[in-house]
Amino acid sequence: MNRLTEPKLFLLDQNNAGGYFLPNLPERATITAKDINEAIKIAEMYGIDFDDGCEGCCGDRWYLSEYEPEIHGVVPDLIDELLKAVK
Ligand SMILES: [Zn+2]
Repeated sequence: MNRLTEPKLFLLDQNNAGGYFLPNLPERATITAKDINEAIKIAEMYGIDFDDGCEGCCGDRWYLSEYEPEIHGVVPDLIDELLKAVK
């Protein structure tokens, strides 16, 4: 098994920058990718704007980190959540 190409889960967290969450995007979701750069590309493909935020106040809207199930618990998949929203 090649550990380098094994996909990993990343945690995408939406911060309520400006005092609100974007209603059409999940507040928390996972992304399956081979590394964090690929996870960023996938997120952007689905409309996540990493430049969004409230500079000097609430901070960035989106945070991406490694998903740790023992800390974060069960988190739905981003693409599944977006497909559900479309239905
Ligand atoms: Zn703010």
